[in-house]
Amino acid sequence: SKVLNLITLNKCLYREPNDLGLMSEKDVEELRLSLDNIKISGKDCPKPVTKWSQLGLSSEIMDLISNELQFVTLTPIQCQAIPAIMSGRDVIGISKTGSGKTVAFLLPLVRQIKAQPPLAPDETGPIGLILTPTRELAVQIQEEALKFCKGSGISSICCVGGSELKQQINELKRGVDIIVATPGRFIDLMTLNSGHLLSPTRISFVVMDEADRLFDLGFGPQVNQIMGCIRPDKQCVLFSATFPSKLKHFASRTLKNPIQITINSKSLINENIQQRVQIFDEEHVKFEFLLKRLSDRLALHRGEDEKTIIFVGSQQLCDLLYDELLLNGITTFPIHAGKPSAERLRNLQKFKETDNGILICTEVLSRGLNVPEVSLVIIYNAAKTIAQYVHTVGRTGRGTNNGVALSFVMVDELASAYILVKCMKENELSSVPMVVYQKLKEMNDEFSSGLKTGKYRLIQGFGGKGLDHLDELNEAKQ
Ligand code: ADP
Ligand code: MG
Repeated sequence: SKVLNLITLNKCLYREPNDLGLMSEKDVEELRLSLDNIKISGKDCPKPVTKWSQLGLSSEIMDLISNELQFVTLTPIQCQAIPAIMSGRDVIGISKTGSGKTVAFLLPLVRQIKAQPPLAPDETGPIGLILTPTRELAVQIQEEALKFCKGSGISSICCVGGSELKQQINELKRGVDIIVATPGRFIDLMTLNSGHLLSPTRISFVVMDEADRLFDLGFGPQVNQIMGCIRPDKQCVLFSATFPSKLKHFASRTLKNPIQITINSKSLINENIQQRVQIFDEEHVKFEFLLKRLSDRLALHRGEDEKTIIFVGSQQLCDLLYDELLLNGITTFPIHAGKPSAERLRNLQKFKETDNGILICTEVLSRGLNVPEVSLVIIYNAAKTIAQYVHTVGRTGRGTNNGVALSFVMVDELASAYILVKCMKENELSSVPMVVYQKLKEMNDEFSSGLKTGKYRLIQGFGGKGLDHLDELNEAKQ
């Protein structure tokens, strides 16, 4: 039968580089957060890469990327989708327009074609099929594909309605590795000459680009028809800016055990939380600033109930700050893991009952804390990881309430500056006083370049205790 004649597919063309192998699951979570909040669903997704050199690409492709195209780093969707696709998996990639999705599928496609036997003289091809909703997009992808094919002996043609059919037929007769097509034109070509011009037997890799638009424009039935003609063990990847339910239904019917990658360009922080920052070069100045901030706040909100949480980096600091504030006439409620649980419970209860109550605690103890009256969070020791920051900030602005999250950063806390620049919204950053902004930017730049060279890295939590699961982050955000 036909099926028995199919060549064996070798879809797994990726080997995890050693440096990634050493990363813990927590490190990977933090890395995904830092890459515009990559969210994964589906089993056994490979870790994201951050350098082109981790992908085991040929020197020709490396040369194209670094010298000709001058792509210094991978975009977030590329970091995650390329290793996933190169592992042979069906992938759904959701990422906003302009985020580099084309390269995310072209690179693995070219790699897979190279790994397969070339087309035999009696084979028509293609091996890779890229379906797009519009002619313009097909033409654009074709231009990009030609760059990746150059010098490799791989051929690619663009088949769209409205263009010269005769010329397309002539090119197809010679056999072609990649076809970029609109669904209608592809079906036409498949049925021409009762299937002798273009046979789907060698197709092993199918891309549906701008899949949301494919379905919006009513190409659903045609795409289904095409899929039905292609060998069942083909690799399918689907890229889209949005993922509406119509597309979800299609994907769940068509893709096998897919990995879904969503790049969440939305902020990690709830809209109703205002993020602010203060930079200090001396600890005592930081304490005095806190003292003034708290006294002003207590005076301002007399007769109301505007609670505050102060996050500190250690149990010792928690106790110290409690004493110092008390000496200055400000009563707070401290909780940390070093206190007996009865005392912790009692302090938490008092904090809830006291108007304008102030809680001092370590990040770990605040998990799941939901006190609606908290309208200010002061992060006295700036967060060391994005996960920790997001979780901490999420203690305010519960539900539809507004909240302020104020981070205190010492001049040498570069990672914290990097995290804040990543998480703060444009308007929040622009409302920071110019000198503070410049300092923050400088610290961020220093850390960012250190991240690339390996001089710096984001570490997990205070004393190595990070979040257990990403789910907790969502809970923090609620
Ligand atoms: P999308 O399909 O997500 O809308 P494209 O694939 O069309 O985005 O890419 C948008 C632009 O970004 C293109 O001009 C492309 O050449 C460029 N680009 C892609 N990857 C990178 C990268 N890693 N670094 C810099 N620019 C890139
Ligand atoms: Mg695109």
